[in-house]
Parts: sequence; structure tokens; C-alpha cells
Amino acid sequence: MAVRTEVAMSTLVTIRAVRPGAVAEESIGRAFGWFHEIESRCTRFDPSSELMRLTAQTGVAVPVSAILFEAVRFALLAAEASGGAFDPTAARGVAGGGWRDIELDEARTAITLHRPLTLDLGAVAKGLAVDLAARELAPLEDFVVDAGGDLYLGGRNERGDPWRVGIRHPRREGELIAFLRASNQAVCTSGDYERLAPQAGDGEHHIVDPRSGVSPHALASATVLASGAMLADALATAAFVLGPEEGIALLERMGVEGLVVTPALQRHETRGLRRVA
Ligand code: AMP
Ligand code: MG
Repeated sequence: MAVRTEVAMSTLVTIRAVRPGAVAEESIGRAFGWFHEIESRCTRFDPSSELMRLTAQTGVAVPVSAILFEAVRFALLAAEASGGAFDPTAARGVAGGGWRDIELDEARTAITLHRPLTLDLGAVAKGLAVDLAARELAPLEDFVVDAGGDLYLGGRNERGDPWRVGIRHPRREGELIAFLRASNQAVCTSGDYERLAPQAGDGEHHIVDPRSGVSPHALASATVLASGAMLADALATAAFVLGPEEGIALLERMGVEGLVVTPALQRHETRGLRRVA
């Protein structure tokens, strides 16, 4: 097994390849390259990042990289699909603006903000990085990309079985609440136990319900199993905002599987979820 861990996107990222060797090392190096590139383009914490240069301009079409365009395009699709429960402009946004104020020009890969907005790609950028890393690792067949709550499971484990993924218990540190089997799939979890917003008040966490402007409390965690990590990442955040019934309905409508856990530890899951003991 080849294993490497680096810090990227404010989390520990670990990549494992079942069969070690020079090719595995090179692929792992390129996979980490995507994390660093996406982080540097999409971060809100560096005023010179491509994202921050985009949001500094209003009313003009700004040509952007394929990476930033893809992240924003996908975030807007998630906003539309979730009826606005997912909104990349919602977290600590400028009052009045919303995702509908963002216009994409696919032909020119340009983005226009029609009013001043805070654009936060925190719920999709990690998933995009996991997907691009997984693409680099695909020739290795059997591998895992683990980016703190967001995973892609390539192929099979060292015993030749599908990967077995533990879902963290949202209230008991170090314990797991369920296991899923996954092969060539992503598993992403949003939980209220994650990073706190720096200026958060009591009971506030890093996810915001765009409709109320405060953190949603109907769920403690939402886990999504899908073909790709950007999809799973965005839908986990959206389901978290929507709560148990509407969240599961969204996942079923989108054709992905998932499991959500309420603060009282009740579980709700999609009909097709293959859970393993
Ligand atoms: P995740 O950990 O994938 O659920 O993503 C949470 C991150 O996405 C937060 O740290 C914010 O950067 C951003 N975010 C918070 N609330 C929302 C929301 N309702 N829609 C889209 N992004 C959000
Ligand atoms: Mg997410």
C-alpha cells in the first residue's frame, strides 16, 4: 500500500493506492497537485485568488479558468436542483443577492455577477478536487482519496472486496454510526460537528440555511453516495439544509443514495442504499 497525507483545503487529505510503486507515487503526486491548484483558485481567504478577483467585479463578464467555471457552474446546478437550499452566495452573503444574480457564458467560460456577492465554493471545491484526483489515480484502479468527510473509493481494497466506508457518529467522537460498501463511487458527509464559522453564535455551525440566514438544525449529518465527489459533496450539503424528509426526497430525485441522521440519532435513508453491518 502506498500512502501519502498532506494538508489542503483546511483539512488532512490522505491518498492510498493498494499497489505501491513508482507509477503510484507519480499519480499520487499529480492527484495532490489538483488539491493545491483548486484551493489556490477557489479560496476566499486570499484576496488575490481567482475567486476573489472575480467577486471584486460586478456587471462585467470576467473570463475564468476551466476549474473555477466548473465549480461555479456546478454550484448553480445544485442551487437550482435544491430549490435554493444550496446557495453558494448564502454563507455570510451580502444581503439581497443570491445565486440567480450569477450569469455564466459557457462559450467564453466567463462569469458575470449582476450585483455584489460573496461567493463561497466551500461545499463543492473539495468534491471537485477529489474527482480530479481520482481521475489521475484511475489507472491504478484500486485506491482511496480521503479528504476529511469527502471520499472517493476506486476499485477494491487489498483483499479484493469493495471498500467498506465507516460513517462517523455525529455525537460520539471516534465512533462510527453506519458502514457503506462502495466501489468506484464517492461518499461525502456534511455534519454539524465540522468547522465552526469564526463569528458563529450559540448552536451555529458551518452550514447556513439560505432561507433563514442561520444554521439548520433538523439534521446532525447527511451522507451521500454518488458516482462523483462534487455531486455527493453538494448534495450532502443540500440535504443537510433540507432536513430528513425533503433531504432524502432530493437525493432520490437526483438518483443518488444517502443516509441522514437527526440530532436525536434517528436515521433516514434512500430506498436503494446498500448498508453493510
Ligand atoms: P460541506 O462541508 O460540504 O457541507 O460544505 C459546507 C461549506 O459550504 C461551508 O463551510 C460554507 O463554506 C459553504 N456553505 C454553507 N452553507 C451553504 C449552503 N446552504 N449552500 C452552499 N454552500 C454552503
Ligand atoms: Mg458538501
